[in-house]
Amino acid sequence: MSSDKVLSQSILNLQESATLKMSQMARDLRAQGHDIISLSIGEPDFDTPKFIIEAAKEALDEGYTHYTPVPGLIELREAICRKLKRDTNLTYTPNQVVVSNGAKQTIYNLCQVLLNPGDEVILFTPYWVSYEAIIKLAGGVIVKLIADVNTDYKVSAQQVEEAITDKTKFILYSSPSNPTGSLYTQDELASLAAVVAKHDHVYVISDEIYEHIVFSGVHHSIAQNPNIFDRTIIVNGMSKGYAMTGWRLGYMAGPEFIAKACAKMQGQVTSGATSFGQKAASIALDKDPIEVTSRMVQTFIERRDLVLSELSKIEGLQISVPQGAFYIFPDCSSYYGKRYGAYTISNSDDLAEALLKEAHVAIVSGSAFGAPNCFRISYAASKEQLIEACKRLQRFFEELK
Ligand code: PMP
Ligand code: GLU
Repeated sequence: MSSDKVLSQSILNLQESATLKMSQMARDLRAQGHDIISLSIGEPDFDTPKFIIEAAKEALDEGYTHYTPVPGLIELREAICRKLKRDTNLTYTPNQVVVSNGAKQTIYNLCQVLLNPGDEVILFTPYWVSYEAIIKLAGGVIVKLIADVNTDYKVSAQQVEEAITDKTKFILYSSPSNPTGSLYTQDELASLAAVVAKHDHVYVISDEIYEHIVFSGVHHSIAQNPNIFDRTIIVNGMSKGYAMTGWRLGYMAGPEFIAKACAKMQGQVTSGATSFGQKAASIALDKDPIEVTSRMVQTFIERRDLVLSELSKIEGLQISVPQGAFYIFPDCSSYYGKRYGAYTISNSDDLAEALLKEAHVAIVSGSAFGAPNCFRISYAASKEQLIEACKRLQRFFEELK
């Protein structure tokens, strides 16, 4: 029997994660002996700070080897509440917090507990790849609000106002943004909040996983607007700011009934996140985040500036200067219709394939982020790799005819 007859319709309909797929393709080609530079995956290339690793080892020795409460260890949920108070002056109780296996699972839980088939989700576009797949798995209908390079990839409050319908369940975005690096200002968030405040059936999911990786401006949370605090869910995690991708730790903070529903969900699916990792995360979150992240942020700024300066030599790319995260998202549409050897570049998927096969640089096609005119570069790579990758990109675009 063909596998299509065995597998469920929902897995057959599910798109594979474009970021993970590209990074696997890069790994495979490298294993075959090709000199590939991968700027595809969004993962800090730093190791987890030593004191966090030590805390996990101590937790193992202390016996943190059992199931934890489903929503997370109480010491971690308390540390998350302290962190939210310290960094954003927001007051939560541990009953409003659920720890999961990565922010990705947090978003999955939220979509599963909030969406009925046909409910609409407003996605600020470009958006992070997995939002789309996770919403569709829950039967949600995606309403894309498109922003382009001319507005630094930020949507306006008016666009949100025009998109809200009776079926809108929530708005979802990340700031600083993956894939664009844009950062919404306090005023912009207040304008968005003012619109949401008028529609009391609409919630906001604010993905703040890059909050510590900010180069100019200040990270604010839309939850800081009292008019929609009760309808905002903050998503965050340890992966980016603390270089803890492999630990798989994320969390939500929001209304207690939603936290309870997320815990019910994961109680049937994972039973919660890893015990000793949670203990280490509680210690990480109590440290001054600037102390933990400043070296990493400084390195990211230098790399961002290096890549921006090199890419500016490629005339046909339109680029907005990212204010956070570790991505650059050039608009490459002026090259569409041109050829490189056997390749005709009609869209960003063609571009990603030709760049990988011909220039040996792995990037991610913008179409995966809802922005087919663009491509994403992750500059979480060494300076030497970035310089070489930019040279290859320059040569590639010069030869596009
Ligand atoms: N949100 C955004 C915007 C991301 O870029 C990522 C990427 N890892 C995640 C959520 C998920 O992070 P994790 O599951 O590693 O906590
Ligand atoms: N969030 C990162 C990225 O966008 C990691 C990969 C993933 O989880 O999709 O590349």
